[in-house]
Amino acid sequence: MKIRNNLMMKKIKTQEIMAAPSYYKKFQCAASKCKDTCCQSWQISIDRRSWRKYLYLIRKERKQNRNDWNDKKTRQWIQKGLDFRTHSFAMKDGKCVFLDRDSLCRLQRIWGAELLCNICRRYPRHMEVYDGLKEFSLSLSCPEAARMILTEKENLHLDLDYVKKTRNAMRKRASKKRCQDREVFLMLLKIRKNFFLILQNQSLSVKDRIIEILEITEKIQTALERGKDCLKREITEYEKNKKRKEILKKNPKNDLSEMKKKEQRYIFMSSCCEVFEQLEPIQNKWKKQMQKEWKTLYVGGLNEYERKRADFQKENTERISEKFLMYFLYVYFLGGVYDGQIETKVKFAILSWLVVREWAIARKEKMGKILLDDWIELSSHYSREIEHSEENLEMIEKMIEKHSMFQKNNIFAAL
Ligand code: SF4
Repeated sequence: MKIRNNLMMKKIKTQEIMAAPSYYKKFQCAASKCKDTCCQSWQISIDRRSWRKYLYLIRKERKQNRNDWNDKKTRQWIQKGLDFRTHSFAMKDGKCVFLDRDSLCRLQRIWGAELLCNICRRYPRHMEVYDGLKEFSLSLSCPEAARMILTEKENLHLDLDYVKKTRNAMRKRASKKRCQDREVFLMLLKIRKNFFLILQNQSLSVKDRIIEILEITEKIQTALERGKDCLKREITEYEKNKKRKEILKKNPKNDLSEMKKKEQRYIFMSSCCEVFEQLEPIQNKWKKQMQKEWKTLYVGGLNEYERKRADFQKENTERISEKFLMYFLYVYFLGGVYDGQIETKVKFAILSWLVVREWAIARKEKMGKILLDDWIELSSHYSREIEHSEENLEMIEKMIEKHSMFQKNNIFAAL
């Protein structure tokens, strides 16, 4: 059984927002105009407070008739909508039973927004807490949020004093310290800031930006494993710009022949799609879609695949890929403070982009073109399947960490 991610959000006060992308506050649910409602495919677990509210409502409605509902009918209606075993909303044909024909929530329609449970009220807003600090984001799984994330004109805007404030806030909240190392956390913040600068540097191609980030990440990962001092030295050196020049000079345009590179790419991408096909499906269509894409792209063999790829390269995907990667780095990179696996987080972001891009290649092959709506649909579909399943996320991270298939040379070849 799939339960939509329970986002651990506390009451949001504006002054508590330490970092949020500039589009965060502009989000508005598309409601009945949404192409893919969030009230289907996953079961929504109900928080304790809302659960009590629903029970109270059932009891209250027992005593007090509404004009348009008779007692028994209302009671039965709400009771039927609750899954008493899992404390979630009941599902019918893959949809929440309270979803009406206009794709609106009946609970909200009749009793107002205060009757929504925490998850329904907050989705797609998400908050990550690091040592009492908060970072806000919108989930790419919501098509409306995906539209904002992928089309945002401005660069990702984070509070300029962020690190300074963070340091102060951390001092104040030192007593609430959780499992992470404060110094390492601040260093990761610095690194992520540098990655944002690289990713948004439009004087380089996205491919070169990714290569640069991956090269730095490898060095930072090694330094992190050696200890804090080593990590500090690595960052200082990079910031002095020495390493950067070195990396750009060495940019692995690479030692392999073009043919070998193509083979490497074909094997890597087709294997990735096979791996993704094995994941726990959140939506029934996932497996089918993966199989269809696989057939469209890889069954014809290497030359056919390269033809489709070359055809797709006429599309300008630079801005979309930049935004997509920014999202994944923003949401996941700092999680490296808990497990020390920052290289996995970066590779996960790149791999996610590569998989969604493969789907886009297959879509273009079928439809003859690829539109913004396609990118939105493919990205939010990917996010639903991967980001909202702890199991899938964990499995992918473990694979990236342990499997030699995900070494950087294969990723470089696939770019
Ligand atoms: S997926 Fe997003 S836009 Fe669609 S109904 Fe849910 S919150 Fe609203």
